[in-house]
Amino acid sequence: MSTKKKTSPPDARLAPLARKRLQHFESRLQSLIQTIRELVEIESPSDNKAACDRISAFLAEKFALIGGRPHLHHAEEFGDNLQIDFPGSSNARPVLLLGHFDTVYPLGTLPVMPCREENGRLHGPGVLDMKAGIALMLFAIEALQTWHGHLPRPVTVFLVSDEEVGSYSSRKITEALARQSAAVLVLEPAAGLRGAVKTARKGVGEYTFSVKGVSSHAGLDPGKGHSAILELARQISVMWKWNDLKSGLSVNPGVIRGGTRTNVIAAEAVAEIDVRIKTAKQASGLDRKFRSLKPFDKHCKLQIEGGINRLPMERTAGVAALYEKARSVANPINWNLEEAAVGGGSDGNFTAGIGIPTLDGMGAVGDGAHAVHEHIIISELPRRAVLLSGMIEAS
Ligand SMILES: [Zn+2]
Repeated sequence: MSTKKKTSPPDARLAPLARKRLQHFESRLQSLIQTIRELVEIESPSDNKAACDRISAFLAEKFALIGGRPHLHHAEEFGDNLQIDFPGSSNARPVLLLGHFDTVYPLGTLPVMPCREENGRLHGPGVLDMKAGIALMLFAIEALQTWHGHLPRPVTVFLVSDEEVGSYSSRKITEALARQSAAVLVLEPAAGLRGAVKTARKGVGEYTFSVKGVSSHAGLDPGKGHSAILELARQISVMWKWNDLKSGLSVNPGVIRGGTRTNVIAAEAVAEIDVRIKTAKQASGLDRKFRSLKPFDKHCKLQIEGGINRLPMERTAGVAALYEKARSVANPINWNLEEAAVGGGSDGNFTAGIGIPTLDGMGAVGDGAHAVHEHIIISELPRRAVLLSGMIEAS
């Protein structure tokens, strides 16, 4: 859901400079598209360390070419996470540009879903989420150096290898870098085709709920069994009632498994449950509810594992202030930049969760993230780059 604000007329003093910047990125558009294509054509599924290491090494070189100091954080099970530091001409605290180079697409997706340009769109696995966002970082930094002769303030880029699978190897580094930064700009895709930035994200968690019952022959001894499947079904109907969509809380047992054969009363059943919360407070309440579930059939045993992985990104005063800055960067090119609250989580949840002003959805505009029609809208790229470069200066 995105919120519309009234358009104020573009600031006459800022408009000529902003238009020049827009023209700069329009003249660099073919080169930007080429860079995005290069990144999409290096496949990088989260669960393939060799593939992710390949793209992180490639990116380290790209950022080094424009004066960055790359540092690879070795990760055992995932690709190496890539930090790049850019010194700036002021003593201001750095701004952190946050992103990920892993995708949800397995190796071998490219032949069936090639990177291709069609009707003003660039298609391909991970193009929107979020390889175009990484290319925007490169071009915004390069442009600032061209315009000022140097970067006006220090910039830290952090590109992680495991965002799509929970950020287990990178989260601590992300949080440590955010703590040293004045603000965090997350280059995840914008919300919707109007290109809103994201000022709130729900928190996300996952639980595994297992029931152990007692098996017996469904024909010979039906009375002796205690069905784990029946118990699980009853428990699910309890959990379902916790859904409170008005307050942004949702519980979805999205996967269930159980039993062995139709003629056996099931001894085991499991549910995997996705939960979403809007406020940090909801996390502990929901967790308590899961952990205090009691079996209907006392011969059944319940076990609950998991929890909230990403706390919500709440629209704090710091987030709202960043959004206002973004609006004032967009305004001189006659762009009424909207904001949106979304249900999905990102690494922006971590940085906002520790109180660092964070603006998410700064990346490309498009549709179909994680789906076969994933694409970006090419004509939106120049103004996204204007926004990013302006925010690096202003944040
Ligand atoms: Zn993403």
